[in-house]
Amino acid sequence: MSPRIAIIGAGFGGLCMAIQLERAGIRSYTIFEKGAGVGGTWRDNTYPGAGCDIPSHLYSFSFERYSSWTRRYPGQPEILGYLEGCADSYGLRPRIRLNTEVVSAAFDEASGRWRVRTASANGDGDGDANGDGEKNEDEVFDVVVSAMGQLNRPYLPDIPGMSSFAGAAFHSARWDHSQDLTGRRVAVIGNGSSAAQFVPKVAEVAAHLDVFQRTANWVVPKPDAVFGPRMRAALHRMPLLRRAYREWLYRYGENTLYPALAGGWSADLVRRRALEHLHAQVPDPELRARLTPGYPLGCKRVVIDSGFYPALTRPDVDVVTDPITRIVPEGVRTVAGLREADVIVYATGFRTSEFLAPVRITGRGGRGLAEEWREGAEAYLGIAVPRFPNLFLLYGPNTNLGHNSIVFMIECQVRYIMGCLPHLAARGPMEVRPEAMATWRRSLERAMGRMVWQAGCASWYKNEAGRVTNNWPGTASLYRRVTGAPRPDAFHFAR
Ligand code: NAP
Repeated sequence: MSPRIAIIGAGFGGLCMAIQLERAGIRSYTIFEKGAGVGGTWRDNTYPGAGCDIPSHLYSFSFERYSSWTRRYPGQPEILGYLEGCADSYGLRPRIRLNTEVVSAAFDEASGRWRVRTASANGDGDGDANGDGEKNEDEVFDVVVSAMGQLNRPYLPDIPGMSSFAGAAFHSARWDHSQDLTGRRVAVIGNGSSAAQFVPKVAEVAAHLDVFQRTANWVVPKPDAVFGPRMRAALHRMPLLRRAYREWLYRYGENTLYPALAGGWSADLVRRRALEHLHAQVPDPELRARLTPGYPLGCKRVVIDSGFYPALTRPDVDVVTDPITRIVPEGVRTVAGLREADVIVYATGFRTSEFLAPVRITGRGGRGLAEEWREGAEAYLGIAVPRFPNLFLLYGPNTNLGHNSIVFMIECQVRYIMGCLPHLAARGPMEVRPEAMATWRRSLERAMGRMVWQAGCASWYKNEAGRVTNNWPGTASLYRRVTGAPRPDAFHFAR
């Protein structure tokens, strides 16, 4: 009998897991999705100019290559359409429960199963636990796969006076489309990859735009290109061409971008490329100086964009580097005075080091995952955690990349989990051994030593204690090798 599998999240990870289960003829799974549609981050981030700065011919499933991408870096609607198309063509929809949030998952040692509690917004009143129209339900599963992503919970800063602002304020990942920014004074707090994408669009319509920059970012050009009908037809009809193009993108990430983050041959080359880009696009030396980062390239996520700098040089856009002291009803106060605003956009990123935090997960011995991870999230291969049998993570701790496609990493993880299913079906719940976890931790620490992320900058790759909990320090190819097939001796089995 197939194991019953709960998948949390219907973004790239959750859909990939479900597709591989379908392909293996396993239909005993349910995807729980707290949002109203599939797509994860590509459903949530609808800000103007939203798109992916990794080419879509690589940032897509290897088994569902899509030859109709209209450009090298398509926008959010096209990527969301791709994911919706995957959900349809693989027949996943009947097993996706939208508007249903997993609130807790507890492992029951006696039965060797997970009890998953959900809350659905559209409850009919039955089982209404809290009197607010929310319906709670408990279901039992053999396996839980978390596919919650690393960038799904917006982070709002703690700036004094935020609630006193008289105008509209929202986070970039919760864009308020009811606000027409035409002719208004807009303040953008933050200058990461999200801000870089929407600032040029907002600058086109706003009366004035202030971009509040706390730390300058490294920016490299985004060589976008339109894929016209002829190119698309060629990619469609010639699988070899498609494969070669994808392979080239992958190899470029592995052989040129990865060494730039690992103190390798290309570090200086990419740095020079970024400085040339800055010089070419920002003629004013004073502004250029403010936009020049004071830490090594790659320490924070590099911004890949060709429209950000030109937007910052517009006469109606100011880059404000004076530290913010508080938000007041009229706008943003800095050490240098008040900057008036009608609208504030918080482009302040995500709560990245908390991973599965919103879900209360309890493993063997009643131990909570949050408690287990008090010193920082960690997982064997980024996938399995000691004391949490039959719990598997997609895009878990130390599996984010700064140089290649995260979809590739997710596929490695899904392949690995698929490889675990026959083992746990035959021998009962499987739990990674603490010794395997310790060996994994040591090898991560060793590899981390050469990576640029440690080089004295603050970034979302690290937790509060400064430990890099999010990124994978090797190449993507190495990750594929180490996740090639589960090693039974790394696990303890119930039977
Ligand atoms: P982010 O890179 O984490 O940037 C957050 C920004 O907010 C930073 O500039 C940060 O300044 C600033 N900030 C935070 N708290 C602040 C405070 N109290 N006062 C002033 N400034 C504050 O967030 P993001 O731009 O949303 O991007 C997050 C990640 O999502 C990216 O790194 C990327 O991996 C992913 N993403 C990818 C794409 C893509 O095309 N693939 C597009 C968008 C996002 P400091 O730097 O000083 O901390």
